Amino acid sequence: MELEGKVALVTGGSRGIGAAIALELANNGADIAICDLKSTDETARLLDAIRGLGRKASFFPADVANFNRAQEVVAEVVRALGRLDILINNAGINADHVIWKMTEEEWDRVIAVDLKGVFNYSRAAASIFRTQGSGKIVSLSSVNGLRGQWGLANYAAAKSGIVGLTKTLAKELGRYQVNVNAVAPGYIVTPMTEPLPQEAKDEALREAVLGRLGAPEDVASVVAFLCSDRAKYVTGEVIKVDGGQYI
Ligand code: NAD
Repeated sequence: MELEGKVALVTGGSRGIGAAIALELANNGADIAICDLKSTDETARLLDAIRGLGRKASFFPADVANFNRAQEVVAEVVRALGRLDILINNAGINADHVIWKMTEEEWDRVIAVDLKGVFNYSRAAASIFRTQGSGKIVSLSSVNGLRGQWGLANYAAAKSGIVGLTKTLAKELGRYQVNVNAVAPGYIVTPMTEPLPQEAKDEALREAVLGRLGAPEDVASVVAFLCSDRAKYVTGEVIKVDGGQYI
């Protein structure tokens, strides 16, 4: 198994894309740390499923926007699971409004979770990865961070910020054999996209040249590839996983 003996921390890993990534990394042999706002029944089922695969699984409550808590969580993961090899910056939220209706709170909260959260956890993991001379960071951007989207000023700015952060961290950490990449999913069916208006789904479906919306597993398999040695000469990349929505 490609990830045997590795420990992966997945932020926002309780459900949706993060849960699929956690399961896929466990399937590939990794022990898993999940951090999320709180543990739910869904979290408990996920942890059981991972343990059912013969892997260790632990949960760490945290708001990724909290800088100090990020440093604590990473230290707690190392204490509980012995090491840290892979960081998946997945936690994210949206609060959509056109710019003339977007509130300061909507702007601040999305930037704090979706962008500062990535900084917080990458910074904490970077110290460990530099010292051990290895590590993988994969962050969840979005096609809407690459092309912009109506009503998503805060979200698109955060997801675009992840692109700059990814390329910078790739340059800073490359000499320590740390690969830093991002994936940019298109419309993936999850609890985040479930409440979106039907027109948004129809538009994404029209754009997707593969003729369907994405599933969390479509993203998880690309993330697992980026975490494996098969991708060891890939860094600073942003891989779209969008069924061709943004060709
Ligand atoms: P989701 O809402 O289904 O899951 C997000 C998870 O993050 C939840 O478990 C939630 O509790 C957790 N979370 C939210 N705020 C948090 C915080 N402050 N601290 C810790 N955990 C927090 O969303 P998803 O669709 O699975 O999205 C996962 C990631 O993928 C997000 O970063 C999202 O922006 C990105 N993404 C999603 C899509 C899509 O179409 N679903 C497309 C592109 C990118």
